Amino acid sequence: MQRITLEELQKFGKTFSLSKQAIALVNQQKATWELAAANYRSLRQVYTRSFDFNHFRIDCQFNPGRIRSTAANTAAEAIQTRPCFLCAENRPPEQVGIEAEKECTILCNPFPIFPYHLTIVSEAHTPQQLTGRVPLLLKLCYDLQEFTLFYNGARCGASAPDHFHFQAGVKNILPVEEEIGYLLKHQSDSLIELPEIKIRAVENFLRRVLCFESAQPEALVFWLEKTLQLLQKPGETEEPMLNLLGSYENGSWRILLFPRSAQRPWQYFAEGEEKLLVSPATVELGGLVILPREEDFSRITADDLTDIFGQVTLPSADFDQLKQALRETTKTSEK
Ligand SMILES: [Zn+2]
Repeated sequence: MQRITLEELQKFGKTFSLSKQAIALVNQQKATWELAAANYRSLRQVYTRSFDFNHFRIDCQFNPGRIRSTAANTAAEAIQTRPCFLCAENRPPEQVGIEAEKECTILCNPFPIFPYHLTIVSEAHTPQQLTGRVPLLLKLCYDLQEFTLFYNGARCGASAPDHFHFQAGVKNILPVEEEIGYLLKHQSDSLIELPEIKIRAVENFLRRVLCFESAQPEALVFWLEKTLQLLQKPGETEEPMLNLLGSYENGSWRILLFPRSAQRPWQYFAEGEEKLLVSPATVELGGLVILPREEDFSRITADDLTDIFGQVTLPSADFDQLKQALRETTKTSEK
């Protein structure tokens, strides 16, 4: 296990909180690991195009360094035959980490989308699955208050679906982080309004999302686990398709859960002029679309984005069913 000491970390920044330690870690990695240094340098020059949809926006980022993630082959055979890049024994010797919540290690992501981009990996090689790990998610959000945590489901953007991990980026880079306050106030549908938790749905921004807000971890664990169960299709053993963003601020947690219906849009598999190499994961659902190919970045349109999001988000009828099931859960628990 390549862990860095606090003493070493102090040379690269403040260390009084886990957020500060994580920031110092990224600084240390940029200073000592050429691959990370080069990729963080290129991030400063990425091009962004912004599409204005009135009450929200979608940013597109041209980021060639992300090609390996966007085009990752996550088919079971490919995963089984490659050495897992999140296991400690296979990590590059330059990559060091810091402990978080005993069972995890915080690493600097060497292929960044954010100026401070972390991968938080389980020490054990165990499948990407959220069930049973909501308490861990909440603790990490609390420990890393300068960051927004994100979870890519095994079939929704995780490039290592066989090794449990979260990612985190410094707060307020994703458009949805700016917009959610307005959307909740003016465009949301209230599903659960209890003293301990509020659950609201937002759906007229190309995506459908459930927003859970609470200061009580037990309530969040109950309702998030319940939602995972409701999303589970009968007979299916794999985790339901989803992306999730979590953060802690002013004494409470906010979790955004994006239920999904497809891993990749048809444009990903198309050839020639119709091809757009875009593989939506949590960052994309958060309103930041990563395009590793310059030709896609130059020609993508607002109509393409509408079409792509429409394919990968949960369809309206299924979302209505989910909302209804959540509302009925309140009634049951009130009896
Ligand atoms: Zn592994």
